[in-house]
Amino acid sequence: MDYPDLLFRERPIGTENNWAILHFLSGKMQEWGYEVETIPLKCKLWKKGISSLERGRVSFDIYPGPFSPGYEGLVPQMLYINSLDYLKTENLHGKIVLLYDDLCREPLMPKDFPFFYPDDHKILIDLLEEKQPLAIIAATGKHPMSGQNPFSLFEDGNFSIPNACMDAEPARELIYLKGPVSLLLNSEALDASSLQLIARRPGQKKKKVVVCAHMDTKYDTPGAIDNGAGVMALLEAMHLLKDYRGRYELEFVPFNGEEYFGVSGQLAYLDQQEISYDHIALVVNMDSLGHKNGKAAVSQYNIQDEKSIDQLVDGFPKITKGPLWYAGDHSMFAFQGVPCLALTSSNLFEEVISLTHTPKDTPDHLDNTLIKEAAAFVAEVVNSLKH
Ligand SMILES: [Zn+2]
Repeated sequence: MDYPDLLFRERPIGTENNWAILHFLSGKMQEWGYEVETIPLKCKLWKKGISSLERGRVSFDIYPGPFSPGYEGLVPQMLYINSLDYLKTENLHGKIVLLYDDLCREPLMPKDFPFFYPDDHKILIDLLEEKQPLAIIAATGKHPMSGQNPFSLFEDGNFSIPNACMDAEPARELIYLKGPVSLLLNSEALDASSLQLIARRPGQKKKKVVVCAHMDTKYDTPGAIDNGAGVMALLEAMHLLKDYRGRYELEFVPFNGEEYFGVSGQLAYLDQQEISYDHIALVVNMDSLGHKNGKAAVSQYNIQDEKSIDQLVDGFPKITKGPLWYAGDHSMFAFQGVPCLALTSSNLFEEVISLTHTPKDTPDHLDNTLIKEAAAFVAEVVNSLKH
């Protein structure tokens, strides 16, 4: 199969490239005889430009948080805050705030994120919104779960305070400088629309099998491993199963929004489910698989007969067993007790995460035969499901 180059180009939800992938996928779904459902979505587009922070004639590189409102201004002072206790006591009105150390340990989940919203994230976000500083600069760096360096503390179109991140090292110099602070934060979020696609083959049974891979990317990454490779495997599996004669209903879902704070496609998909989670026999999610230095690692969630999956794994040289991980689209099903398999790269934590969400996530890291084998494995799993 020829894959379009679009699978290796930036394609966040609502962008032109994202629309082009939607057209390509729905064309393939129809060509292979699937029923195609389209659910309309609302989303936001992020527009951004060069941003800067200056103090005492020294200029610092800053990076706007995705979907942050813009800001331009000169203020006499900047507040430096490194703990929640200190934050509670300060008046932030009319001030630009630098958050550092303890407050910048990890990326914060978007406000009220439906699948996972830790209490400590909520406390910090609520406090900042209550205190309404003019803008927030977060001094961050490398985080083991993100390829971005420095990582964005906020990535949330519903967070109303202009925000950016900068590297923690130069931020230490900034703290000792005096004089007014000039901030240009070149960023805005625009209203846009998109679609969630579902390819369906009706079955004789009420129960269904869902095979999914997210089709969107973060901004500023070609997204070859995350998750062009997953979409390639989804296409291959869809092709291999086009003449499926088993009794289950099949759904192939290129989720549109895994990398987006609003997870729009996922929420729309869950919303339109007339049948409950009990009627899903199996979810297979493919995310960030296909790295050439690894294998495809299969992890199992809520699966009754793990041994029979293990046996299938043994039949494929480039497939191996992998550890559980609760990020990605299988999580929302796994937390509900639905049987799930997740396929990713066996070297995800050692090698792949440092590429994902960065400009380095290019197709030269991919092993196409491994991706094909992953799809063949998925087809075999689906075909082997007992009735
Ligand atoms: Zn991903």
